[in-house]
Amino acid sequence: MKIVIMGPPGAGKGTQAKSISHKYSIPHISTGDIFRKNISEKTELGNRAKSYMDNGELVPDDITISLVVDRITQSDCKDGFLLDGFPRTTFQAVALDEHLKKNEDYLDAVILLDLPKKFILDRMTGRRVCTTCGASYHIKYNPPRVAGKCDVCGSAIIQRKDDIEDTVKERLEVYDLQTQPMLEYYNKRGILKNIDGTQSIDSVFQSICNVLNSMV
Ligand code: ADP
Ligand code: AMP
Repeated sequence: MKIVIMGPPGAGKGTQAKSISHKYSIPHISTGDIFRKNISEKTELGNRAKSYMDNGELVPDDITISLVVDRITQSDCKDGFLLDGFPRTTFQAVALDEHLKKNEDYLDAVILLDLPKKFILDRMTGRRVCTTCGASYHIKYNPPRVAGKCDVCGSAIIQRKDDIEDTVKERLEVYDLQTQPMLEYYNKRGILKNIDGTQSIDSVFQSICNVLNSMV
């Protein structure tokens, strides 16, 4: 299965992607995670992406598209993948389709986590992430078992630099202007699957599984 999970920042994409990847045995590819890893390792890609991310802007398409094309060409993606945070512009969506088409391939589904803006600020400002393994928590809705420590690896959990209120607002504007228009592109192709993202983490997962199971 070749799937995209999309939705506004803080919608729950990363949270659901981990469970989907596990259940359907497909690699979870998060462009945000890849950029953050490169920033922490101070690579050239990380240096190029950092200022855009810190400001809540999109990393330019040319950098992002080649990164994803390289990644999905790797052998573990042969039987499927789950893209999280990519595509984020219609230009990226078209580039992805063109790449897949070269191998007579296509996306099976685009899962949209849909939720009103009023939920987003609370979700994003309450998000905490592990400094080592990237696991994601929420101070109210999904707290770690021991405060401040990752359940998976025990490392410290921190607030992402781009989860402070001003940057969140910028990222929401970027979503409206640059990502939202892409929905129509997938809607026209009949592969856009709307999921009510206001539900609990477990209920959202169940709704996604219902959609994916009905496709196989
Ligand atoms: P995204 O990857 O879309 O930016 P995340 O998966 O990191 O979003 O989720 C953002 C925050 O909201 C995290 O702190 C996460 O624990 C929390 N969260 C995710 N899904 C839900 C949900 N259905 N209900 C409440 N909180 C949620
Ligand atoms: P995320 O972890 O998905 O919230 O992404 C964090 C940040 O990484 C975004 O605000 C962008 O700056 C950058 N980013 C992630 N994915 C993309 C993409 N597909 N296109 C451009 N920038 C991206």
